[in-house]
Amino acid sequence: MSTTTVSSQLASRMGVLGTETAFEVFAKAKALEAQGKNIVHLHIGAPDFNTPPNIVAAGEKALRDGWHKYTPANGLPDLREAVCEDILRYRGAEVNPDNVLIVPGGKPTMFYAIMMFGEPGAEIMYPNPGFPIYESMIHWSGAKAVPIELKEENDFSFDADSVLSKITPNTRLMIVNTPANPTGGIVQRSEMDKLVAGLEKHPHVTILCDEIYSRQLYDGAEHVSILQYPSLADRAIMLDGWSKTYAMTGWRLGYGVWPDSLIKHAERLQINSTSCANAVTQVAAIEALRGPQDSVDEMLKAFDERRHVMHRELNAIPGISCVMPKGAFYAFPNITGTGRKSQDLENGLLNEAGVACLSGTAFGAMGEGYLRFSYANSVEQIQEGLRRVKEYLA
Ligand code: PLP
Repeated sequence: MSTTTVSSQLASRMGVLGTETAFEVFAKAKALEAQGKNIVHLHIGAPDFNTPPNIVAAGEKALRDGWHKYTPANGLPDLREAVCEDILRYRGAEVNPDNVLIVPGGKPTMFYAIMMFGEPGAEIMYPNPGFPIYESMIHWSGAKAVPIELKEENDFSFDADSVLSKITPNTRLMIVNTPANPTGGIVQRSEMDKLVAGLEKHPHVTILCDEIYSRQLYDGAEHVSILQYPSLADRAIMLDGWSKTYAMTGWRLGYGVWPDSLIKHAERLQINSTSCANAVTQVAAIEALRGPQDSVDEMLKAFDERRHVMHRELNAIPGISCVMPKGAFYAFPNITGTGRKSQDLENGLLNEAGVACLSGTAFGAMGEGYLRFSYANSVEQIQEGLRRVKEYLA
């Protein structure tokens, strides 16, 4: 009888596929809670609010109205129209609905883009620290992952000249994320202008801009969208979705705006993987975009209050310092003053202090020296969590 195991038969690329540690920390925290421990959850990448009732009602109605079948692979025409109206309203950019691909969540757009361009010999640039799936997928595709370093001294934005200097003839895709996970940093218009001007000299590079936190901006900051740059119209992909803006992470819906030359390839990847996004969710998403936006404003107001609490309380802990996040709902404090490594501190805080947060290294090697705290939790929970952190470090 053969002793070959199934796991030894796996494609070698499975060995380089990374993960999103947030899901692992979530599982560990739940296991500790099952043992009776009290855990403060400051690791979560989802708004803690429920989906606004008008959207839920639209979803319920869609179920009753019989939206039970496949939709066109690229999404319902009315939803793609609504996406274009939304882009015009919030980004001031005109987009043709034929360039919109509705997908099940924010992730598929990055998955399709990286699959489309990544292969051995190719290079893909990505933010580091950044959303972990970029680096994971680049490795999986066989391409070389070239980090765009985001530094605290630059307010976690990038330096356009330094980014441009890393482009080689093998660079195929560059990923930008603003507002950013995990740092809460945003890209300023002047820096994006410089990057785009520089990219004009590199017509072989496509840019994917992950703008999933575009509505979570504070202090009147403007959202700089890649769609606002006509010179890149033939090679810019814009990723957004409903998860963060409308507290719809579990509904699984997102979209990509793709240039003419790429949209058919993206649609083909969709047909090969998921066929189409959930029909009921798509109908509810039309209500999200066209319905009242008060709930979005209210959630943002709550996030802003918590942002101030988190920033203030983190900076009151000896050994920790934190720049003010400008977008999303994360703080990325520098913990080097504690003398601890990030992963070690994440473990200690979870197991000994009952606080779930994420090591900066969950977002790439350049996250060493940082932790990510999410403020998608109540002011009381944030205060209690950071009280525990302070006590633990003392
Ligand atoms: N892009 C960024 C930067 C994110 O932080 C996330 C989720 O945390 C996603 C994309 C994925 O969003 P979704 O849950 O809709 O797939």
